[in-house]
Amino acid sequence: MDLDLTDEEQAFREEARTWLREHLPTEPRPPEGREMREFDLAWQRTLYEGGWAGISWPTEYGGRGLSDIQQMIWYEEFARADPPFTLNNSCTFVGNLHGGPTLIACGDEQQKSTHLPRILRGEEVWCQGFSEPGAGSDLASLTTRGEIDGDELVVNGQKTWTSYAHVADFQELLVRTDPTAPKHKGISWVICDMRTPGIEVREIRTMSHVTDFCEVFYDDVRIPLANVVGGLNNGWRTAMSTLSFERGTAFMADQVELAATVERLISEARTRTGPDGRRPAIADEELARRLATARAEVAALRAMTIAGISRNARTDVPGPEGSMIRLFHGELHQRVYQLALDVIGHDALRLTPVDGDGVWTGPYLQSFAYTIGGGTTDIQRNIVGERVLGLPRA
Ligand SMILES: Cc1cc2nc3c(=O)[nH]c(=O)nc-3n(C[C@H](O)[C@H](O)[C@H](O)COP(=O)(O)OP(=O)(O)OC[C@H]3O[C@@H](n4cnc5c(N)ncnc54)[C@H](O)[C@@H]3O)c2cc1C
Repeated sequence: MDLDLTDEEQAFREEARTWLREHLPTEPRPPEGREMREFDLAWQRTLYEGGWAGISWPTEYGGRGLSDIQQMIWYEEFARADPPFTLNNSCTFVGNLHGGPTLIACGDEQQKSTHLPRILRGEEVWCQGFSEPGAGSDLASLTTRGEIDGDELVVNGQKTWTSYAHVADFQELLVRTDPTAPKHKGISWVICDMRTPGIEVREIRTMSHVTDFCEVFYDDVRIPLANVVGGLNNGWRTAMSTLSFERGTAFMADQVELAATVERLISEARTRTGPDGRRPAIADEELARRLATARAEVAALRAMTIAGISRNARTDVPGPEGSMIRLFHGELHQRVYQLALDVIGHDALRLTPVDGDGVWTGPYLQSFAYTIGGGTTDIQRNIVGERVLGLPRA
């Protein structure tokens, strides 16, 4: 594979760099609630108006129809511009990075033309209603029911760990529409309007003190059958498409930001006092070795991602190989933030920025989620073993 950028890609990089210099917001992102939603949507609108939303989405739905490599270049430039917020924490994440791509891959014309331009223009926030109290890793055990009544589904049940449900307009919702079929065969993937009567959203506060998780309860919620994506009782296939985007390409921006964090830690280690209380942290052999390893590992992650992008360009939907990226990325993310605490020392305990210093506690606590969300590392290992390496099922 040729990893050098073409002239066109280099020009694209320059264009992105110039635009970001002129448009990147400098004010901090509000951490919660309606203010956070307004901030994220305003940034999405700015991106759209500048031509930087849906870089690889089809032009007929408002995208630019460019390559995933160009999308990745944009993320790299975004991270380089040192923004005051991260892309993967945005409430526009689900719509842009797996809800929208699932509609592109599996939706009908009406579903695509209704939602895709609105996602890109920052007019719709999406959330994901997959997990339930009794169905996480074993997602196909889900019990939220969708009973057909005329041309509607009547939904009853509960979802949990639904990120950003409290500020979302729509949800990618999995419901059991045929309880008599084998468990993978009786599920449907539906677009649920979060303002429909019968939906109750309850917020969950986490140890990082931010509320972006919710429980969602459904009591006779009526959803048009026209909102089923990819066919009635065919939701498992549609959900696998969603998860392959979530595991394969959705975390590209985060990976790029992680690489920028490692570079930042290396420069912090040059100026901060190390564990012996005298020399800079970088002079400590163990810390220097871990920083060098982290730099090599983010480079390896970038190469894996580019290989994945090149594979997707041939197949359109990311394959199970995305689980290798997600697995490596999740564990690396945790190693990097543990390393950050060791380099920054007790200053890392600050909860608010001081004199241009970053805040490390929140991202450190958040790093624990990286080996759970979108499927735990154990599940990714199972997928890599069975579907990439062809090992026998456990
Ligand atoms: C930051 C974050 C955001 C999330 N956002 C959403 C969201 O927006 N929407 C949504 O629907 N869900 C969301 N989730 C939920 C997430 O998808 C689930 O937490 C995850 O799939 C694990 O399910 P569980 O919590 O029920 O754990 P369980 O499935 O109960 O797993 C418990 C433990 O058992 C292990 N285990 C289970 N089965 C196996 C197996 N077959 N082989 C080996 N080990 C196994 C797991 O690895 C884990 O360690 C989010 C989670 C996080 C952390």
